[in-house]
Amino acid sequence: MYKICLFGPQGSGKGTQADLMIKELDIPAVVPGNIFRHNISEKTELGQKVEEYTKAGKLVPDEITIEMIQNRLSEPDCASGFVVDGFPRNVSQAKSLNDRHDITHALLINISDEEAIHRLSRRRVCDCGATYHLDYNAPEKEGICNDCGKELYQRDDDKEDVIKKRLNIYHQETEPIFDIYKEKGVFHEVDGKQAIPKVWEDIKKILGP
Ligand code: AMP
Repeated sequence: MYKICLFGPQGSGKGTQADLMIKELDIPAVVPGNIFRHNISEKTELGQKVEEYTKAGKLVPDEITIEMIQNRLSEPDCASGFVVDGFPRNVSQAKSLNDRHDITHALLINISDEEAIHRLSRRRVCDCGATYHLDYNAPEKEGICNDCGKELYQRDDDKEDVIKKRLNIYHQETEPIFDIYKEKGVFHEVDGKQAIPKVWEDIKKILGP
């Protein structure tokens, strides 16, 4: 059974690889960023609580995020495995996840900060969860989602000053988690600068047959 956590700087392609895992491994992807964005656009109570944090590129407080993710992971579709993209993001989230789940693979998709900034400033997203890059993966019709036909937009937190803040938090709060998974012997790194199919090929080698 696969219980995978994806790590990597913003823009490293975690979402793209998580989508491949959904299709090829037949497991659900649990993506806190998407859950938050969905709740913000639907103006739910949760959305109103978290909007100021996500806009500023700050982490949403643990008491909100941990409960939300643990609840999601206890749903029936996660019982035979899952991939989590964007959680845990600090040591206390990692500890609470590891208390309940034996993570089989912690995969770091690594790119430099420079590359992350370049990629995110050209990223466009849709509320349905689809992501595009204006240079490498442009939508068929300019500004329109291939999957659902809605209008694409740039995330507030993909503006350069906010990206830099998010990268700082990643280095300071998320990277220290890697040692926990290294100790457990489940930590692997792949080069995220490569083309999407090559990153996937490297990941498949790590996941095994
Ligand atoms: P992402 O799309 O993964 O970059 O997430 C977008 C935003 O959602 C982040 O900048 C945070 O504000 C919030 N967020 C996502 N995952 C987490 C998490 N594990 N802990 C706290 N906040 C999170």
